[in-house]
Amino acid sequence: MARAGTVQASLVQARAAVLRQTNAPMTIETIEVGPLAAGDVLLRVRAASLCHIDLEAIEGQLAVTLPAVLGHEAAGEVVEAGADVTDLGVGDRVVLSWNPHCGHCFYCEQAQPILCAQLLANGPQAFHFDGRPRLSCEAVPVHQLMYLGGFAEYCVVPAQSAIRVSDAMPFDRAALLGCGVMTGVGAATRIADLRWGAVALVIGCGAVGLSAIQGCRLAGVGAIIACDPNPARRQLASMLGATHAVLSDAAETVALARSLTAGRGADVVIEAAGMPAGFRLSLEAVRPGGQVVWLGKTGVGAEVAFRWGSLMQEKHITRSSYGGARPAQDFPLLAQTYLDGRLNLDDMISARIGLADINEGFAALKRGETVRSVIMLAGAV
Ligand SMILES: [Zn+2]
Ligand SMILES: [Zn+2]
Repeated sequence: MARAGTVQASLVQARAAVLRQTNAPMTIETIEVGPLAAGDVLLRVRAASLCHIDLEAIEGQLAVTLPAVLGHEAAGEVVEAGADVTDLGVGDRVVLSWNPHCGHCFYCEQAQPILCAQLLANGPQAFHFDGRPRLSCEAVPVHQLMYLGGFAEYCVVPAQSAIRVSDAMPFDRAALLGCGVMTGVGAATRIADLRWGAVALVIGCGAVGLSAIQGCRLAGVGAIIACDPNPARRQLASMLGATHAVLSDAAETVALARSLTAGRGADVVIEAAGMPAGFRLSLEAVRPGGQVVWLGKTGVGAEVAFRWGSLMQEKHITRSSYGGARPAQDFPLLAQTYLDGRLNLDDMISARIGLADINEGFAALKRGETVRSVIMLAGAV
């Protein structure tokens, strides 16, 4: 753990995409990264992918104090480890986790690190996990989204946010593991109790939904229905393991789920669209006693209406932010599953771009044209 006031000498300069104002382009600037506290690691970022959570921060839906460096799906290598870091060394290949946790609060004791009191309390401030800054620009502190700040050549993170994976793992594909892939695969393998031969429905085929489809495949389900209005996404869903693909028409989807289950409905529905219609569809399409996992989200002040009858009959509803992630054990496993050829990450990368292309990359994500654009920094593959 970091000791207050204990610092290393390291202070490096890095090019970074800095968000100074919501709903405005990020600017590429030189920032100072460090110095390290005893529990930190300094990473050279090799690849960072563009996720909707960053977009929420850009658009002001996710409150982040500015100026800030966003970027939370990233991979890199350890350049320096703080004095108290014993399990990481220089040159280690790591994937960033956005769930550092204190390990001793009420929620950590309940094995719910995603609810860690320190994690949630310090989140909006967007400094380091200990609440103090690590980045600066012309002596003014710069914030780091989710304690990370991956849209930069270097970042400094708590050691527990840097998860070592196989050296054989390409950086650009490793970057995907830390958020969207973990959330989607985890929904199927950590949250849902999927049985061999079950029928699963996945609503929304962005990075999270496509990962959920792959998680369902890894769990051995019998049929996977992918639901998305975008024909290219449905095609990709089929390539990644969906056995059936439908438009987002609710009646058609419910009918298909019932036709595959003797009229009961899907055993498990994983929602990854973040639309009120998707939340409603999830409850209409699941069978009595079935499981619904909501991964998407809408505005925190928004209200979503349901037909009461759709909530009846012993349905189990779970809302998850990170797919039940336990990054230290799950990220190496996901990486190995990719290396074994059982998790397709190659086809989830829509574009490889430079740091200077970041604003256009987010515009493309917002338009729904890309699943994942990955910013390639030096030596990314
Ligand atoms: Zn905690
Ligand atoms: Zn993300």
